[in-house]
This record gives sequence, structure tokens and C-alpha cells, in this order.
Amino acid sequence: MVDFALSDEQRAVRDWVRTFVQRELVPLEPEVLRRERAGEPGITREESRALQLKARESGFWGILTPEEYGGMGLGAITASLLEAELGRTFVPFRFGGAADNILFHGNEEQKRRYLLPTIEGERISCFAITEPGAGSDARAIRTSARRDGDDWVINGEKTFITQGNEADFVMVFAVAEEGVTCFLVDRDMGWKSEPIQTMGQWGPAALVFDDVRVPAENVLGEVGGGFALALQWIGQGRYLLPSRAIGSCERLIEMAVAQANSRTTFGEPLAERQAIQWMVADSVVELQALRLLVLHAAWQVEAGKDSRQAQSIAKLYGGVKANEIVDRVLQIHGGMGYTRELPIERWYRELRLLRIYEGTDEIQRRTIARNVLKGHVPVSWE
Ligand SMILES: Cc1cc2nc3c(=O)[nH]c(=O)nc-3n(C[C@H](O)[C@H](O)[C@H](O)COP(=O)(O)OP(=O)(O)OC[C@H]3O[C@@H](n4cnc5c(N)ncnc54)[C@H](O)[C@@H]3O)c2cc1C
Repeated sequence: MVDFALSDEQRAVRDWVRTFVQRELVPLEPEVLRRERAGEPGITREESRALQLKARESGFWGILTPEEYGGMGLGAITASLLEAELGRTFVPFRFGGAADNILFHGNEEQKRRYLLPTIEGERISCFAITEPGAGSDARAIRTSARRDGDDWVINGEKTFITQGNEADFVMVFAVAEEGVTCFLVDRDMGWKSEPIQTMGQWGPAALVFDDVRVPAENVLGEVGGGFALALQWIGQGRYLLPSRAIGSCERLIEMAVAQANSRTTFGEPLAERQAIQWMVADSVVELQALRLLVLHAAWQVEAGKDSRQAQSIAKLYGGVKANEIVDRVLQIHGGMGYTRELPIERWYRELRLLRIYEGTDEIQRRTIARNVLKGHVPVSWE
């Protein structure tokens, strides 16, 4: 059976978030733009926290976090729908109550010290695998972990680490004699961070580990079992990245429609020109295709199927098409599209990241092609 209808619960939850975005976040947009253009964060940690607590009053806390940890424990399809609603604004907001999936693998003590305070928003984590010499080829990392008595000593450099400046602990991947191992390392154990300026608003950091001493109880999972954890972290929500782009593309196309209907050139609205109509048509078709690819991937996740191929397809298509769509929308706005008076150029810079992080376009294509060429996934519809 193929059923494209949302359940009553999915619709109710989606509608609540749509109203929240419209009432609480969209009004902040002019101020967010003003601050960002003055080189400040668009929204402060306190403002973000206040909004998260407001959402929590209505039960919106820990979208994917299991109920036993105080979350909503929603399924991947609903999470994807909510992410798309949040993507309708560029105000950088996430619901509270979330934590990295691999922290749930910690022992009871690690859960108490790292997982629970992260869920509560009292501690901030970051995930560090990329190095100056190893990005796509993550197996080439060189950061080392050497045993010294009951401790480990970590040396090396990580780069492009999201929240690396704000985090109070890092899940860092280092090479031990037994293989790649994940360590939970508090900032006060001695690692340093340096901000990296990017073309977008997400400012990651370079991290330096210079003889950082870490007690043995801070190994997450098995010694030598780090690579599997890293893959699990990266794979936790690949479908959520293009989900967010769905909402952004909806807003952008709505802006293009308003502009095409109101702007007149040579005596007629732009909306009457076939060149413009085709840009709108292509964008609407691609947005719809993206929705279906993302929902298919989310459905596979929710059904407990092997969703890796579907997630790679959705991530690749979302990155490529969201960038084409924002480019067309900018074009339809002419010179105004290029200015900082409108948020289009901001979305243009932000969406560009989707083609790079958590597996570049080329790496997704490599995965997709390999799965088919090696016969892991059929070309036909399963
Ligand atoms: C804003 C931002 C946030 C990030 N956050 C994090 C984070 O929190 N934690 C973390 O660990 N990392 C993070 N990253 C790192 C990100 O995952 C890497 O940048 C990404 O995986 C690409 O690695 P690279 O930059 O080393 O590029 P490279 O691997 O050097 O690739 C360069 C180019 O070559 C292509 N290429 C590479 N290999 C192949 C191949 N086999 N065939 C064809 N083409 C290929 C790539 O697609 C790319 O176009 C972040 C990056 C950015 C920009």
C-alpha cells in the first residue's frame, strides 16, 4: 500500500510547529539579520534557551530523544516534517532536549556526566573527527591516543568542528594501537579551540590536543571501536539535513512568486514571462521530488530498514537542488536579490554548506554508485 496522507498526530504536531515558527521565530528575522550583519550571533544562547523552554511548556522537548529520557520519542517521519517547518525561517533555532545518539552508548557514569546534562542543555557537546589532512577520507585521521598508566594521552589537531568554540566537552576520535577510539574529553582537560571564519553563519572551530591527559573511564564504547561509533553519529540523521532545506525552499519559492506577481517590466508582470514561469515550475517540481525522497528515507529509518542508500540519495538531491532553487529565486529578484536588504543571499550562503558537510556531493555519489555497482541495492524499486 502506498499512502501519502499524514496521520492525525503528525498533522497536529506539524501544525503546532508551523504556528510556533510563525509566531515566535519569524518576527525575530529582521533583528537576526541586523545582528549577524554587525558580526554578532543572530540569537544569543539565553534567547535560544528561553524559546526552547517555551516550546517545552507545550511538550516540544527532545523530538527524537526516547521518552525514558524525558523526550518525545517521535518517529523519523514526524521529525523530518518538524525540521522542514523549522527550515522555513533562517533564525538559528533547534528544540531543546536533544543529545548525540552515540552518548546513549555510554555506561551509567558517562550517561550521568555527559548524556543527561546535554539533554538538559546544561552542557554542550561537539563531535570531532575531521582533521586538516583527513575529511572525506576519515580513516586517514592521525590524532593519536597513547596509554600512560591508567590514562590516555591525546595529541593532534581537528578542524571544522561545529560548536567547537562553545562546547564544554568533545567526542574526539583518535588512533590508538587497537584502532580508532572515541574519547569524551572535557575542555578543562586541556584542549584548545580557535574559531574558523566561514561564508555562512555556522562558525566551526579548529581544536588542538597537545598532550591532553584523559582518564581511561572516558573512553566511549570499546577501545578500537571508535570508527563504528563515528559512522553511527554521521548516519543518525542524514535525512534531517535535506528536511530543513525543504522548508527553506518553500519560503524562497513563496518569495519568488510574490516578486514575480508584483514586479512589472516592459508593461507586464514578471509572472507573465515564460523564462520566469519555467524557473518557478522547475523549482516547484524539484521541491516536490525532494519532499518525496526525504519522506521515503525517513520512512525507511522509522521502519528499521537499511536506509543508507535512501538517505544518501535524499542528502545529495537536497544539497544540489536547494542550491539551484535559491539561485533561481535570487535571479528572479534581480539586483535586490544580491543585496543584504533581503535574506536571499544569507540562505544562498547557508545552503551551500549542505553540499559539503556530513558527506560531500561526491562522497554521496560514490556511496550510491558503489551500492548499485556492487549489487548491494537493486536499481529497480524494491
Ligand atoms: C561548517 C562546517 C561544519 C563542519 N562540522 C563538522 C563537525 O562538527 N565535525 C567534524 O568532524 N567535521 C565537520 N566538518 C567537516 C566536513 O565533514 C568535511 O569538510 C567534509 O567531510 C569534507 O572533507 P574535506 O573538507 O577535508 O574535503 P576533502 O575530503 O579534501 O575533499 C575535497 C573535495 O574533493 C572531493 N573528493 C574527496 N574524495 C573524493 C573521491 N574519492 N572521489 C571524488 N571526489 C572526492 C570532495 O567531495 C570535495 O569536493 C564540517 C565542515 C564544515 C564546512
